[in-house]
Amino acid sequence: MKGLVSGIKRMEIHDGDGLRTTVFLKGCPLKCIWCHNPESISFSVQTAYFKEKCLHCGTCGDKHTAETALSCPVNAIVTYGTEYEAYELVETVMQDEAFFRAGNGGVTLSGGECLAQPDFAVELARLFHEKRISVYIDTCGFVPRETLKRILPYTDKFLYDVKAVDPAVHRACTGQDNAIIIDNLRFLSKMGAAIEIRIPLVVGYNDMEIPAIADLLKDIPCISKVKVLKYHNFAASRYEALGMENTLPPALTTSEDVQKAVDILASRGLNAVNGVTSD
Ligand code: SF4
Ligand code: SF4
Repeated sequence: MKGLVSGIKRMEIHDGDGLRTTVFLKGCPLKCIWCHNPESISFSVQTAYFKEKCLHCGTCGDKHTAETALSCPVNAIVTYGTEYEAYELVETVMQDEAFFRAGNGGVTLSGGECLAQPDFAVELARLFHEKRISVYIDTCGFVPRETLKRILPYTDKFLYDVKAVDPAVHRACTGQDNAIIIDNLRFLSKMGAAIEIRIPLVVGYNDMEIPAIADLLKDIPCISKVKVLKYHNFAASRYEALGMENTLPPALTTSEDVQKAVDILASRGLNAVNGVTSD
């Protein structure tokens, strides 16, 4: 079983509990305007050219491809998307076994949307689960119910994004409706899954949705924590390097904005915290 991976991050402390290795699967059904992993949206291999790093040495002959990336002396050409067999990826990640055992962590499958490569994600989760490694699934929830059912037995916790309750706001920010996302969240809770909610807070785009999100979440059991994530624009240069339109909102979220959202969520009885995004 093969899959396409855009990156592997070791010793991660923001993608779930303990010390974790995060595997980013390539491809996402949403297109959030604030996406901080633009290299994870496309389901294909992509090559990026970071012009600010280029020394104009001429080695690549001004051709920015997967082949010339290997000869660039300063990594100004980067290829996103490596094909792995599931067992091969598990072997690579298991090199850090001692760290996540000592750090009470495990593996987080993220993306993009990891469940948009359902067979690969389920196989990875199954193999890690077999080795008694904690498996967290970081998902936007915009996935078929069948996929959730398949991954559920191998999942220790879902890190579940909620971005808006109003469908019009959700469509404007992500390009997709949110009915399936809310239904899937209720389904996971009904199945007794452990769930941590993540809310990326982008002022002017979804901050007005916080009271409605709080009202939605307060009636869903199984949610242990709600993390409000501060929007940042660190990915701006990656949009340009990938030749993608930079859709990142200009106004950054402040710590005060996050605290305000946390207070609203906490006032509805939710265990709301100020979170940090990994990048
Ligand atoms: S090989 Fe790298 S540094 Fe040299 S010209 Fe090409 S992109 Fe620039
Ligand atoms: S769900 Fe995540 S990976 Fe997908 S577009 Fe939105 S922010 Fe990017």
